Amino acid sequence: MLAAVLHGAHDLRIEAREDRMLLPGEVRVRVRAGGICGSDLSYFNKGSVGDFKIREPLTLGHEVAGDVVAVAAGDGFAAPAIGTRVAINPSRPCLHCGFCRAGRENLCRRMRFLGSAALMPHIQGAFSETVVVRADQCVPVPADMPYRLAACAEPLAVALHGVRRAGRVLGANVLVAGAGPIGLLCLAAALHAGAGSVTVTDLFDGPLAIARRMGASQAVNVRDDAGGLEHLAGAAGGFDVALEATGSTASIVAMPALMRPGGRIVQLGMLPPGATPLPVNLLMAREIDLVGSFRFHEEFGIAVAALANGRIDVSPILSATFPLAEANAAFALASDRAQGAIKVHLEIG
Ligand code: ZN
Repeated sequence: MLAAVLHGAHDLRIEAREDRMLLPGEVRVRVRAGGICGSDLSYFNKGSVGDFKIREPLTLGHEVAGDVVAVAAGDGFAAPAIGTRVAINPSRPCLHCGFCRAGRENLCRRMRFLGSAALMPHIQGAFSETVVVRADQCVPVPADMPYRLAACAEPLAVALHGVRRAGRVLGANVLVAGAGPIGLLCLAAALHAGAGSVTVTDLFDGPLAIARRMGASQAVNVRDDAGGLEHLAGAAGGFDVALEATGSTASIVAMPALMRPGGRIVQLGMLPPGATPLPVNLLMAREIDLVGSFRFHEEFGIAVAALANGRIDVSPILSATFPLAEANAAFALASDRAQGAIKVHLEIG
């Protein structure tokens, strides 16, 4: 099978990889579409994401959907029938540890997440013609759902988990920093959860126009209008909830001053490695919570349901689709934020 394999920064090759045998309880999926994630882009551009560095060739990709083509019964999971169209949950937690049993599978220390260099050997990803996953990683989608829409279940689950970590969002004055795919999906997820208003920031006008189209009350270009956000926050008495989806140090450092006392900041973006200096006295004196949000678990099924019943419309973020053979062009477009691309997909099968 052909796969998009990263050998180092800017060295992405389409090459043949071994297809492995199924173990009991596993499923082979013919991958049809895959979305390029910010972490795929970070691996591609820098050879690393956060603290995870590529140390051996890595097939990228973890936002994928396709069709079940083979099933090995066993392991207690109800396997989907051959031919079922599925969104693949890239999380494969151990299911046995304390975190898994407490319903916090995303914190599992033995997590095997598709397309990740967190472990050695790396967990190979799913930008490949077929991929083997555990049966419970396959979530059936309607037979007429476009594959690239189904592939959006993964980033939408990230956003839904972030909103869950925010606590009370109903009626809240929400700030979303960053209008990339995760930021825009956080906007959609916050509105879905009943946010009173959502302000979105970015450095580029193109993504901000999409944020407005998706229901943002305000969209602020923080590069052109540096004081605009402080002014908005001041007029409203501060934000109740902030979802940080840029991974930029400047963004998180500025955030505590924008919050209402008692507010909550959720860090979704992955910051550069190492320590980040923060105005902790502001967090202390205003009792502002700062919490992390990492991946998702049960939100994956919630995301599939919201896409299937149309309660969350992600179509505004779909930018372009390239065949697998043109993966380098797809990564180049997805890396160029000034061009306005949000979510770029590979069409694989
Ligand atoms: Zn576990």
